[in-house]
Amino acid sequence: MINKVLIANRGEIAVRIIRTCREMGLRTVAIHSTIDKDSMHVRMADQSVCVGGPPSSESYLNVPAILSAIEITDADSIHPGYGFLSENSAFVEKCESHGVRFIGPSSECIRLMGDKIEARRAVQKGKVPVVPGTEGAVADAEEGLKIAKGIGFPVIVKAAAGGGGRGMKVVHSPAAFVNAFLTASSEAGSAFGVSDVYIEKYFEEARHVEVQVIADKFGTVLHLGDRDCSIQRRHQKLIEEAPAPNIPSRVRQRMWKAACDAAAAVKYNSVGTVEFLYVPGTTEFYFLEMNTRIQVEHPVTEMITGIDVVKEQIRIAEGKKLRFDQKKVQFRGHAIEVRINAEDPETFMPSPGTISTCLLPGGCGVRVDTHIYPGYTVPPTYDSLLGKLIVHAEDRNAAIQRMRRALEEIKIDGVKTTTDFHRKMMTNSEFAAGRVSTNFLEKHRA
Ligand code: ADP
Repeated sequence: MINKVLIANRGEIAVRIIRTCREMGLRTVAIHSTIDKDSMHVRMADQSVCVGGPPSSESYLNVPAILSAIEITDADSIHPGYGFLSENSAFVEKCESHGVRFIGPSSECIRLMGDKIEARRAVQKGKVPVVPGTEGAVADAEEGLKIAKGIGFPVIVKAAAGGGGRGMKVVHSPAAFVNAFLTASSEAGSAFGVSDVYIEKYFEEARHVEVQVIADKFGTVLHLGDRDCSIQRRHQKLIEEAPAPNIPSRVRQRMWKAACDAAAAVKYNSVGTVEFLYVPGTTEFYFLEMNTRIQVEHPVTEMITGIDVVKEQIRIAEGKKLRFDQKKVQFRGHAIEVRINAEDPETFMPSPGTISTCLLPGGCGVRVDTHIYPGYTVPPTYDSLLGKLIVHAEDRNAAIQRMRRALEEIKIDGVKTTTDFHRKMMTNSEFAAGRVSTNFLEKHRA
């Protein structure tokens, strides 16, 4: 049984996890860095432990300090949130050897899906289509060039261990290939500790469509529908919605099945996300990667299904069977999430500082997941996500209307935020028509 959960994270996701733990009657322990001592997650948890200085390496990634915090507080389980240690299989093994339950999939699943080359191989065994590309790691630039010519330009060189939109280089011509390849593999080595790279066909006009899966430890794999996360900047998501608009019903059904097949192929046993590239106007989609954690954008799925994804994740970690079947998962209406970052809306440069005014929207169909409050200081040390504004309405047009209204209500002073960017996006006619793609911002400049 899980009774006391240590949340190895900060910011909005720590707050969000604490809320569900409360509803489940579980005790909570927050960890924090020195600079986060006044953070909302610290105030909300039943207990808190300072694990180190501001840099993540000294605190939120400081495994010995986190394990000590578990011991001191007698926590029996750990929720990693997203980022930080959430996809670190060695950490999961350490938790297990300390008798602490990790709220997430097995370390084997994390290891397998954390290597994008291995992940491609594994899901192909489950007959899931992958983005056309190399079978394994590419030995050197010359071999890479041959392969790239075979695939056809443009191509994308990707780090096997990459993540968070990092470790990728798009190459448009053979002349630019060798340089890009060498940069990609040396960057991969320094950023991720593994210099393996592979090559995929690069789709200029693709959409990022992903499927939320949920699997228990008894082999049952279900899906909770799809999300579109095509509105991105530098391969990082800015707006997400569920369901993904303008997808033929048969393609959607096949994608749901492919996601479940991918999860089943690796004996997945938690909540997770299978990401695909979908080529608009066709029936083709391709596996990109699987994220073996809760994702930033999970609330849009919660809004259309009424299922608390974190609650199910905790129940699965406790060894419980899924308490519903696929037929019971019903989709209702449309949900949109915008990420409010402390950034300049024009340049997207981080904007740390102290929040003076903080007025957040409310009303029918509006959810705000955030850790900010008036007087809160946004540190320069971590990612700039201040919170997520999520709306739910009967259909996509109504959801856009509701998002416009909710965005009008936001007033945050003291730091620059991306609120204005989202206000513009919600009046963009292409977005309104659901004509989204991962190169949307390059094409339209919102
Ligand atoms: P990460 O693990 O860093 O998130 P992903 O493989 O999920 O990397 O890719 C992130 C984003 O990069 C995708 O959502 C998409 O916008 C873009 N991308 C990745 N691979 C391709 C590709 N082959 N063609 C077009 N866009 C791609």
